[in-house]
Amino acid sequence: MAKGAADEPKRYDPAEIEPKWQARWDADTALYAAEGHDSTKKKFYCLEMLPYPSGKLHMGHVRNYSIGDALARFMWMRGHNVLHPMGWDAFGLPAENAALKNNTPPREWTLANIAAMREQMRRMGFSYDWATEVTTCLPEYYRWNQWFFLKMYERGLAFRKKSKVNWCPECQTVLANEQVIDGRCWRHEDTIVEQRDLTQWFFRITQYADQLLDGLDTMDGWPEKVRTMQRNWIGRSEGTLVTFRVAKDDREQGTGNDEAPLEITVFTTRVDTIFGATSVQLAPEHPVAKSLGACEPKLAGAIEQMIAGQKAAREAGDLGAIEKQGVDTGRFAVNPYSGERVPIWIANYILADYGTGAIMSVPAHDERDFEFAQKYGIPVKRVIVPAKPNGELPVLPYTAEDESVLIDSGQWTGRTCGAAQREMAAFAKAKDFGSATVTYRLKDWGVSRQRYWGTPIPMVYCERGHAATTGVAAVEAGGVVALPESALPVVLPEQIEITQQGGSPLGRVAEFVNTTCPVCGGPARRETDTMDTFVDSSWYFYRYTDAKNTAAPFASDKARYWFPIDQYIGGVEHAILHLIYSRFWTKVMRDMGMIANDEPAARLFTQGMVIKDGAKMSKSKGNVVSPDDMIVRYGADATRMYALFAAPPDRDLDWQEDGVAGISRFLARVYRLASKYSERASQRVGKSASQRSAAEGKLLRALHQTIAKVTEDFSGRWHFNTSIAAVMILVNEIAAAEAAMDAGEVSAAAIAELFRGLTLLLAPFAPFLAQELWGELGGEGAVFRAAWPEADAELARESEIEIPVQVNGKLVVVITVPAGSDEATVKAAALANAKVQARVEGKTVVKVIVVPGKLVNLVVK
Ligand SMILES: [Zn+2]
Ligand SMILES: [Zn+2]
Repeated sequence: MAKGAADEPKRYDPAEIEPKWQARWDADTALYAAEGHDSTKKKFYCLEMLPYPSGKLHMGHVRNYSIGDALARFMWMRGHNVLHPMGWDAFGLPAENAALKNNTPPREWTLANIAAMREQMRRMGFSYDWATEVTTCLPEYYRWNQWFFLKMYERGLAFRKKSKVNWCPECQTVLANEQVIDGRCWRHEDTIVEQRDLTQWFFRITQYADQLLDGLDTMDGWPEKVRTMQRNWIGRSEGTLVTFRVAKDDREQGTGNDEAPLEITVFTTRVDTIFGATSVQLAPEHPVAKSLGACEPKLAGAIEQMIAGQKAAREAGDLGAIEKQGVDTGRFAVNPYSGERVPIWIANYILADYGTGAIMSVPAHDERDFEFAQKYGIPVKRVIVPAKPNGELPVLPYTAEDESVLIDSGQWTGRTCGAAQREMAAFAKAKDFGSATVTYRLKDWGVSRQRYWGTPIPMVYCERGHAATTGVAAVEAGGVVALPESALPVVLPEQIEITQQGGSPLGRVAEFVNTTCPVCGGPARRETDTMDTFVDSSWYFYRYTDAKNTAAPFASDKARYWFPIDQYIGGVEHAILHLIYSRFWTKVMRDMGMIANDEPAARLFTQGMVIKDGAKMSKSKGNVVSPDDMIVRYGADATRMYALFAAPPDRDLDWQEDGVAGISRFLARVYRLASKYSERASQRVGKSASQRSAAEGKLLRALHQTIAKVTEDFSGRWHFNTSIAAVMILVNEIAAAEAAMDAGEVSAAAIAELFRGLTLLLAPFAPFLAQELWGELGGEGAVFRAAWPEADAELARESEIEIPVQVNGKLVVVITVPAGSDEATVKAAALANAKVQARVEGKTVVKVIVVPGKLVNLVVK
């Protein structure tokens, strides 16, 4: 007898369900569209960091976007007006490298990659509003980079200067300080960054150093580790600049040599200890070191050796661990506070490009100076002691400042350290040998890149050489002229030969380079460097609010409605690159009156990495798992749900294919159960009866407990792994109640509530399956526009709870009592238990301790 097809349970087949829904969602452009800024709903701006279009999504992307997608869907279901956009950080070096390798123009290569990745994102079912898509390599976008550049130039925030810059020989371009990690290129871990002298464009981010620092204190929604990294990067320190004069050499005395004396300026945070300075130390590349070496061949040799040693250590990436060495120059500097002569040393651990390149060494009150003095037998002179002496003087080095006072320090003897610091800085200022100052580790942001695939800088150099005519910019004369806004965009030429040699590729395109001066109409050359790609990502998220605007980067009222971003999600590797640049950009735009927010994002979440077999996925290790393969084998729902289930989102996730298969089986189970009961569930019979069977009560209790748990996880720490585990437990409960449901012990209304609830709970995690079941259960429209279920506390309450009973601290039995029982009831139930009675027989119960809801302990003798 042939089995009727109708009797076969329907099989879960993501390959059928997912493309079907994806096609419908694609056709419905309103589905994920944000409502306008006039919406009366509460807004929620949910943002994941935009990817570089390499051509393939990797699992790190899938994880990042699965987190954002679950949150966006949850917020829609909670009735918010959600903006959930996506775009492409599309300029950058890989496009040029690909052009060299495959002879494909960068634009073509990039746009093809974008198309491929957009398609992958669609297959994953991410809920992006593609109408707001931003592609940074298109003139519609980068013309606004140029516009911002001009505005910055007008405000003196973009400027040109010659300086030592970081040069990556592999990238063949300059790098910002933030792009140099342990002396190496951020894109080329094995490539040592060189120092070159070049004239470059900079953004004056240091002007915002204090604001960037102070803002961190208000950013409670950002991870503390990111805030700490930014604080350290900005590296503010208050101190005093003090200039020592180099004492004349004995040989020079009386020779009539009346050249201006050499000077050494040091920066110290502890000017109060300066009477304890027993040497002044210079970096080997310090100009005074060079002068002193000029007439001392032996010294010059030692200096050369130290410079070579520093270079080698920099190349080995362990400059910080260099063995400290020094050489006494035999010369002296005069302490301007005491008039005392102190020896000048040259030391290999001092860097010319850090601080002033010179220090005063106070061994009595500084760990490092103490160590150095011990090694070379330099005197140690104590000048700080505890304010309240307590017998013996403290062991040196004594580095405390609080409750400490100065001794042997001239007119400041007896002053507290804090008072002395202020007074001594003022004294230096009055005597014109120093001043109080604040220094920062943060340097201005070098934005020029000698590469092709980036935003052209909208400046020209007039051959007549007249000076800049716009704004207040402190540029050198030499024909630097800003283009007028009407000349934007300066379009990147497409016909170009890319090579890695010979400077900026744009410099070889005559039609691009040769132009006319907008001021005098004479011949001029365009700037041929392009902008750092971090310019693109510094403000892209504002463009999402008004992506089609052709008159401005965005309309202020739209940005004012959507900003700050409610939740930003991305990798921690951007903590001091993108996340500091975009904070700077936000503050500049605020000062321009374009926006009202001080910071771009109210909350930031940094997800963990996806690893495989204990290592980061990489082509070279051969451990890359392709999202496409996972979709083919298990479906998009299982892949993204696994990415959320396998680890808490802030931790690293070790990808296990078995785990994806497990999620797929779980979804199949849900599908089978929901399909089996969908007919009963779709009968609309109102609320479930107040008289419930035990089975029905248990199921509804499980449902509402799960709703409460998942809802709380979304508003709290996003432990989606435990949310999904809770949904799995609910499904187990449903499966265990199958017999009861089949026997009619559970009402149709309860079954409807149960399966609808389950489907809504799954919607943020497994959107395709949830949408499929929603239809089967009689739901209308998109499941993501249905209201998120409310947990009913009454239904969720346990009717009975279990309480362990101990005798003298040892567990005897677990009793069951009605939930919410008072102490006396619990105590009586414990004492009435037969096992407990057997244990206490013949003994005296001295004490009964009841911890409500938790435990009963009997103390017996
Ligand atoms: Zn590089
Ligand atoms: Zn001119």
